[in-house]
Amino acid sequence: MVFDFDGVIVDGMGEYWWSSRQACMTLVDTASGSESLPVEVPEAFRLLRPCIHYGWEMVLLAAELLRPDSPLRLQGPRAYAADYSLRSQQALEAWGWQPAQLQESLEQARRKAVAVDRSAWLARHRPFPGVVERLAGLAAEGVDWVVLTTKGAAFTAELLSSLQLSPSELYGHESGSKPEVLLRLASQRLLRGFVEDRRATLETVLATPGLASLPCYLASWGYLKPEDRQSLPRGIHLLEPEALASPLASWP
Ligand SMILES: [Mg+2]
Repeated sequence: MVFDFDGVIVDGMGEYWWSSRQACMTLVDTASGSESLPVEVPEAFRLLRPCIHYGWEMVLLAAELLRPDSPLRLQGPRAYAADYSLRSQQALEAWGWQPAQLQESLEQARRKAVAVDRSAWLARHRPFPGVVERLAGLAAEGVDWVVLTTKGAAFTAELLSSLQLSPSELYGHESGSKPEVLLRLASQRLLRGFVEDRRATLETVLATPGLASLPCYLASWGYLKPEDRQSLPRGIHLLEPEALASPLASWP
């Protein structure tokens, strides 16, 4: 069984904003401007989290909250979400940034936070109710489980160990895209399913030759857009917490 991490195992909204804000402030010269980013998680950031694929996009969102003529500020988060890919591309161009440098600045902010005060960093994350117990219980069912995330593997490992969870394997963004990793895993063993909270990722997985029959589960408790639950294609099942808690044999 394969599990995504953010939005499936752990709610890290507080940390996503904290690290993105730190990273953004190292990239943008806020000293020269009169504005700065709020300490509390902005509503626009929260609303756009379901659109996020890679961590660097969160740093870009933080920056767009600062840029006076950004469409995020002028038109609001819902309009931004409706045209998310194009808006992200335009924002990268407006700032003259590359995704790799944003990802590095995010991970640098995280490395620093872990080094300075590991327990404060950990405390910005909360496991979703019942998930830790359920994962721990998979071993009793004789099922091994794997974590597959677009987060950095080192940070994910820190969090998993703080929750006393030990998956049989862990793959971060360094290991390649999720469909690539799933294909490698599927060539080695029978995969029981993939639990993820980003619908677009599940759709990409199902459209990947060799993965079309992988049971895909959309975690209902994760970072979903309001419309994500509706008209799910065949092959993607909405997984509610009650179903998660039940034995694997009775999953949809
Ligand atoms: Mg996720």
